[in-house]
Amino acid sequence: ATPTALMAGTGRGAQLGILIKGPQVLETTRRIDTIALDKTGTITTGHMTLLHIHTTPATTQNDALRLAGALEHHSEHPIAQAITTHATTHLGTLPTPQNFTSLPGLGVHGTVEGHAVLVGRERLLAQREIHLPVELARAKAAAEAAGRTAITVAWDGEARAVLEVADAVKDTSAEAIRRLRALGLTPILLTGDNEAVARAVAAEVGIDEVYAQVMPEDKGGLVKRLQAEGRSVAMVGDGVNDAAALAQADLGLAMGTGTDAAIEASDLTLVRGDLRAAADAIRLSRRTLGTIR
Ligand code: ADP
Ligand code: MG
Repeated sequence: ATPTALMAGTGRGAQLGILIKGPQVLETTRRIDTIALDKTGTITTGHMTLLHIHTTPATTQNDALRLAGALEHHSEHPIAQAITTHATTHLGTLPTPQNFTSLPGLGVHGTVEGHAVLVGRERLLAQREIHLPVELARAKAAAEAAGRTAITVAWDGEARAVLEVADAVKDTSAEAIRRLRALGLTPILLTGDNEAVARAVAAEVGIDEVYAQVMPEDKGGLVKRLQAEGRSVAMVGDGVNDAAALAQADLGLAMGTGTDAAIEASDLTLVRGDLRAAADAIRLSRRTLGTIR
């Protein structure tokens, strides 16, 4: 394509809500055959709600909520926001934690009211030899089978609660996936969340290929593996944890509603955070480069 055509394509992109880093990006876009999509904040709204608090018999819901909320108040994860909002609404001001630590892809820990508290996925607890009692394991399994994320809460060396959080699929996601398929692309779901939740969301939007429980540092490696299989991979994401995968991909697309880290690592930004614009971007590049009318 001529430089003029590429510049015109870039301008048309801006009208469609697609910011393109440079005209050469359109050339790469044309070759893409696989599109990997992050779950939280990309396919789903990223606005999570705390739906249920399951506790052991010796634990009150208020204690679990207060200790977990105190820590999550200092995390920016969408799960943390759901827990914090629920906690402040029901309990008011939360205690201030000491030694707050965030472990990306796992959860948070710190000291609250003299207790060593852990909030996050089961693996975070398992790393410290803390295991879920049977009633909490059952609540967790039921939540996950329903497509919800189960967050475990432990303090003083014992698992005491499971918090059920959920997030809605954006109403444009299923249509976006259909359009991407119509362009001949294979959609893939890539998430740090567990297998059951990932499968439930994938089924809802029409994705068959799912990679769940992928740690933030492994997302880029997974894209590399797909490339090694000979695939030309686009990646769509919104989080700090997606930045490496966005940079590794042949084409990185950031949600404009996402973090600066994701936007900086990407070639394209979908300004309105609408996944349908990903399909628009691919159509636009093919049209600009004369592959389709
Ligand atoms: P995603 O790919 O869905 O954006 P992440 O890689 O950020 O997910 O996190 C993976 C999992 O780690 C989450 O599903 C959750 O179980 C746990 N986790 C991460 N951060 C937190 C947090 N601040 N509080 C509780 N759990 C967390
Ligand atoms: Mg995300």
